[in-house]
Amino acid sequence: MASNIPKDHPRYLSLMTRERMADALKRGLIHETGLIAHGRGEAFDYLLGEKTPDVADEAARVAAAHLLLAKNPVISMNGNDVALAAAEAVELAGAVNAKIEVNLFHRSPERVSRLVRELEAAGGKGVLGENPDALVSGLSHDRAMCTTDGIHSADVVLVPLEDGDRCKALLKMGKTVIAIDLNPLSRTARGATVTIVDNIVRAIPNMTRHAKILSRVDRETLLEITHAWDNEEGLRRVMEIMVQHLSQASFP
Ligand code: ATP
Ligand code: MG
Repeated sequence: MASNIPKDHPRYLSLMTRERMADALKRGLIHETGLIAHGRGEAFDYLLGEKTPDVADEAARVAAAHLLLAKNPVISMNGNDVALAAAEAVELAGAVNAKIEVNLFHRSPERVSRLVRELEAAGGKGVLGENPDALVSGLSHDRAMCTTDGIHSADVVLVPLEDGDRCKALLKMGKTVIAIDLNPLSRTARGATVTIVDNIVRAIPNMTRHAKILSRVDRETLLEITHAWDNEEGLRRVMEIMVQHLSQASFP
């Protein structure tokens, strides 16, 4: 991946991430609309000051507790997720003993296979998704395809950058849904059980960090952590931060 972005550029990280996305498009890992979704995310990250707010850190801790308590936790990965956080997701899966399943909105068997290979190259073992044998209820065919051992039977599903319809369908199946979504107004963010309003590149390593700490904690304490979370209140706090950023912006 060739880059001429100077290291001292104030938006270095953001610009490098863009290059990763462009590279992922060329390699057939992401769908072209994935670039647009990424741009929407960038805009909201700008309003966060491109750093993890306390409330997103708390959400990441609650999410880690849910994953540790789960019987069959599954991390659902799409093209953007793999392009931005393949190795990080593999590490999280190891820390909470979760399965990884590739699940796409714009599904093609070839792209699913490319993403599975990419996750395996990052250390993922037994990555699911290439042989779907079940459907998420209440969704039209392609988007609904999943595996019996993975998403279909999961009690807790982590869905970074998920579409609102699928998030709703997973909730309707009785699952605990953890979303990572920079847009606190999206249907996914508003519908999920726990929403981490943060960039996936920061949120997943942060969840792993919390999971490692919480793995030494008893179940009762983990349950208390999950019960204490109010997702609507969390979203309100994030929106306040974004509004503050806008209202305090001064012009030279
Ligand atoms: P919904 O269907 O939930 O109403 P949407 O249609 O606005 O949401 P989608 O295109 O379905 O959005 O999903 C992309 C979502 O992912 C957007 O809300 C966007 O803000 C978010 N997003 C994009 N890039 C990132 C990123 N790097 N980290 C976290 N979230 C991101
Ligand atoms: Mg959508």
